[in-house]
Order: sequence, then structure tokens, then C-alpha cells
Amino acid sequence: MLTIAIANQKGGVGKTTTAINMATAMAATGWRTLLIDLDPQGNASTGLGVAANARDVSSYDLLVDEVPIDEAFVGTSIPGLDIVPATVDLSGAEVELVSVEERTARLRSALTNHSGHDICFIDCPPSLGLLTLNALCAADTLLVPLQCEFFALEGLSQLLQTVERVQQRFNPRLDIIGVALTMFDRRNRLTDQVAEDVRDCLGSLVFETVIPRNVRLSEAPSHGLPALVYDHSCTGSRAYIALARELIGRFPPERQAA
Ligand code: ADP
Ligand code: MG
Repeated sequence: MLTIAIANQKGGVGKTTTAINMATAMAATGWRTLLIDLDPQGNASTGLGVAANARDVSSYDLLVDEVPIDEAFVGTSIPGLDIVPATVDLSGAEVELVSVEERTARLRSALTNHSGHDICFIDCPPSLGLLTLNALCAADTLLVPLQCEFFALEGLSQLLQTVERVQQRFNPRLDIIGVALTMFDRRNRLTDQVAEDVRDCLGSLVFETVIPRNVRLSEAPSHGLPALVYDHSCTGSRAYIALARELIGRFPPERQAA
């Protein structure tokens, strides 16, 4: 299984929207896909229509109680897409795990030898705490959504430092598969300029596909559906399909098919 963490310690940059729609795009292409909701806010779970009373087992149980992964995921309305939902309990996990041995490796242990899915996305919370560290330790690679706004690059160096630390101490194979520019508004010259600056700074690390600001993307979660299902032809959905294609192109050659 190829495991991709979607992380950026800033809130509201499009992590969850990217996680939901990339997972949906991969499932639609025939990959047996797992999404792990690692944000106590549970937005990915809600956005995929997992009701609160259907979250008997959650990512909290996976991390804190070591419930086996096969007992932790539930199906979604999307064929081929399963999710380990999150509940508010998860906000306590950061504290509860502090005293636990191997506290950064809990998620990695949970996913070791799991063969029921081909690909796994981890939707991280907006911080660089223990939950995100667990995601980075469990992941093969990292996808960073970056909002096209003035302070986009601020904070990125902190994230990159964290990645380096994780590589050195816990997970040498971790790399960054790409940075995805989100909420791009081509009528706004500032976002255009920011996108250009980010490309100057990060070069080919930045995906060519840019996710536009698109109201359909923000409406979809309230219907419990990925935008790709809610309105598969809107500009946001089309961009995520293109991003998924570009993402697969960056997988190692032997991993490019499900
Ligand atoms: P994060 O997970 O990083 O906090 P979200 O994916 O939840 O970010 O996005 C924050 C808010 O912006 C949500 O209300 C979401 O629906 C909205 N949103 C995300 N991406 C877009 C986009 N490309 N266009 C318009 N709204 C978006
Ligand atoms: Mg989120």
C-alpha cells in the first residue's frame, strides 16, 4: 500500500478538500482506497457522509487503543473508498500518547502489513503535533496543499524542517511528492503573483495542475459528497481529476497501476 500524508500546519488551505477528492479520484480509477481522517474536527468524515453515529470505531481507537486497521474502517457511498473516521476524542490523543512508548509510530504500526487497500491518504490536522508526526512516520510520501495567498510560503519552512527531522529520526524513506496550489483565482493578480513566487521557490516540486477557487468544492461537503460526485464537471472537480493523474505520474514506475 502506498501511503500519502496530506499535511500543512495552516488551517483552511484545502487539505481536507484535497484528501476527499484525491481519494475519490483514485477509487474511481480502480485503486482500493483508504482515507484516514486524522483531524479531530472530522471534516473528511463528514464530507464523505459518515454520520456521527457511524463512527463507533475511529482513528482515535487505531492510535490509542491499537484497534486493528481491518476493524477501524467503514465503507462510504463511493465504491472502492473506505474511511477511518475521526471523532472529537482524537483531540485527546495528542496528550494521551505523550506518555506512550513509540508514540510517533502508532499509525505506522497500525498500517504495517495491511494489504486490503492499494493506496491510503491521511488527512492531517492543522498543526505539527503528534497526530501529524504519526502521519509523517507512517507515510511513504507527503502532499502539501498550499493556498495561493500572500503568506503561502510562510510556515512552509517549518513544515520542511519537520519533514527533515522525521526523515532523520523516524522515517528515512519519507519524501515530498508535490505541492498543490489551491484556491487559485485567476482574476486576482495577487494569487497569480503568489503562484509564480511559489514556483520560483520550489520549482518542479509544485504540481502543474492548480486547484481553482470554486464554490462547488465548498458546497459539496454539506451534502456529504465529494465534489467529484456532487458535480463532476465543475472546474474544481476537473482540476482534482487532473491532479490525480499528475500524482499517479509521480509514483514510482512499479506503483503506477492499482
Ligand atoms: P483544511 O483541511 O486545510 O483546513 P479545507 O479543505 O477544509 O482546508 O478548506 C477550507 C475551506 O475552504 C472549506 O470550507 C472548503 O470547503 C473550502 N475550500 C477548499 N478548497 C476550496 C476551493 N478550491 N475553492 C473554494 N473553496 C474551497
Ligand atoms: Mg481539514
